[in-house]
Formats: sequence, structure tokens, C-alpha cells
Amino acid sequence: MGFMLESMIGKSAAIDRAVAGEELTFDDGMELMNYENIHMLGATAELTRQKLVGDDVTFTASYYMNYTNVCAASCQMCAFYRKGDEDDAYTLSPEEIEKRVSSAEQLGATEVHIVGGFHPDLPLDYYEEMMKAIKQKHKNLTIKAFTAAEIFYLSKLTKNSIKEILTRLKNAGLDSMPGGGAELFHPEIRNKIVRGKCTGQEWLDTIEIAHNLGIKSNATMLYGHIEKPEHVIDHLIKIRELQKRTKGFLTFIPLKFSLDNTELENEHKVTQECSSLYDLKIIALSRLMLAGALNNISVYWVAYGKKLAQVALCNGGSDLVGTAFSEEIYRAAGKPTNSSLIELSNLVKEIKRNPVQRNTFFDQIQHFK
Ligand code: SF4
Repeated sequence: MGFMLESMIGKSAAIDRAVAGEELTFDDGMELMNYENIHMLGATAELTRQKLVGDDVTFTASYYMNYTNVCAASCQMCAFYRKGDEDDAYTLSPEEIEKRVSSAEQLGATEVHIVGGFHPDLPLDYYEEMMKAIKQKHKNLTIKAFTAAEIFYLSKLTKNSIKEILTRLKNAGLDSMPGGGAELFHPEIRNKIVRGKCTGQEWLDTIEIAHNLGIKSNATMLYGHIEKPEHVIDHLIKIRELQKRTKGFLTFIPLKFSLDNTELENEHKVTQECSSLYDLKIIALSRLMLAGALNNISVYWVAYGKKLAQVALCNGGSDLVGTAFSEEIYRAAGKPTNSSLIELSNLVKEIKRNPVQRNTFFDQIQHFK
């Protein structure tokens, strides 16, 4: 890697600045998005990853649950939502949710990841009851629930402020928030991939309120559909700037767009999923653009498959998100989802890195020999 980097120094100002540990600008990001030497980009991201977080690859034992697939929105990039009158539309009661969480805890989960559609009829009490039902019986489980987009919708639906809603949910047991709903912030793209969801700025404002209330969260970016390089860089810089203010993001998770059964596919606006090379570029860019501000870069193996996930870990990634014991959103688009801690640790060992189980907040739980 050293030889490769030395031979390239001076050939890209942005690579030079990244190697020197400088914060990359929008123009640097654009240069790297258009940079054709994917190996050099990956090597630079790896150098940065090693300097910032070393050779550990972390993952959590996580249980994924979607409490409802009924959604008032109808995003063009989504295969999950139902309008409520279809045979497969569902909404789980707080008691059913608690039962599933109970099974997850027996499987070894340390966190539950709970998200759902924008249900137009569920009151705020439903969400509070859900939190309380879980916390009363599973004190040691971390509840990571509700995207900023769901919270924003709930605020509009119930006419309570975002701060009020988050405070009530936190008091009921909410520990942290996932990073979904961010998609791509730039309105040029967002308006073409989401319909009925908050704007990018509203997502950022909502998550900032959560961080200021002491609720940490993840951050995501949905890529691989109709975006251009400037939309990716814009998104990464907005995440970085917010992180500098709040330090509330735990990890950044680039999410590869999954094509099947979406409106974007049906209307032929996207005809194939992005290439693996583009996936690697996105992981490397995420590492380099966020360096120093947000140093956990997650590789979501559910979307990549385990083999590509290994390569992505060698292009700047340092975290595998988690076991995802059950994950219905990607399954709706035809992706297999189950894995265990041992499988994930083997995946890491095969690339000569150190597998480490973590909790939601990136505290280390166990090392695998
Ligand atoms: S992405 Fe979320 S908000 Fe949009 S339609 Fe799907 S479930 Fe609803």
C-alpha cells in the first residue's frame, strides 16, 4: 500500500490532502468521486481507517423489527409500504412486539432495532406503550427505534413538537435512534425518490434535536439510484457538519439501493442496481469525507452480501452493523438476511482483521479469537 501511495502522491490534490489528514472540501470530494483509480482511492481510505480506528471490525447482536408496514407515504425507492387494505398489511401490538423481543433476547441480541411505516392512525400512546412494554421486561436491552423521518411524521400527525415527542419516548424507554430516512438530502434527488417524507433539512433538524436531548443515533445515505456525485458529497458534508456540532452520530451506514419491487424499477427510472465498484467508491469516500468527525464507517452486509462486504471492509469500512436476526425491509426486495455472531466473526477473520462484538454505543463486549 505504501508503494502505491508513494507512486501516486502529487497526482491528486484531494488524495494528498486525505493522506495528510486534512478535512476534505466539497471540491475534494468531487475530485474523488470522479477519480478513476479505485485501488488508490481504496488504499487511501484504508490508510485513513487504520490511523483512525485500527484493525478491529465491530458488529452488534441486533434484532430487527418492523412494527407496521402501513405507510401514509409512498416513496419511489421503497418496496416495503402497504396502504392498509392489502392482505399482507400488518401492525403489531405492543404486546406482540414485546414477545418477539423476548425471543430476540434469548437469541443473544443486545439491541432491538425498531422502525416502521408512517401509520396514519396510531396515536403517540402506542409508541410509548411499545417502549414501556419492552423496557419493563428487558431492562438490559438497548432500544434503538424510530427514524428521524418517523418522528417528524409523528410530530405533524399528533401536533406535538419534535422535542415533546422525543422527550416522551425517551422517558418511556427509547435509548437511541437508527439512521434511516436520511436517503439523500439534496432536494434535486430527494423529491424524485421519496414522496410524503420529510425534507433533508427537516431530517437533519429532527436528529439534531434528538442529539441535544442526549439520544444518539446512526446516520445513513441511500445511494445507487439516480444520484450524481455532487449529491453524495453534499450529503456527506451535511452529516459531517452536524456531527461537529453534536457528536451524536455513532456510525455512518451507506445503504445500497435495492431495486426489486420499487416504483423506480417499475417505471424503468432505474434498471439495474449499481456496480460493486461504485459500492467500494462510496465506502471509501464516506471514510475520507467524514474522517476525524465520524470514524465508524459501517458496511451493511445485508445489502452487499458477505463477500462484497469483506472487500468493502478493505476499502475503508470498520463495522458490519450487526447480526440483523430478522429484517423485513430488505427481504421485501428479495435479500437474504440471517447471520450469527460466529458467521460475522469468521467473515472478519478471513480478511485478517479483528472481530469485536460491540453494543449500540460502540462499547466493546467481546473479542473473538
Ligand atoms: S421508505 Fe418509509 S416512509 Fe417511504 S414509503 Fe417506505 S416505509 Fe413509507
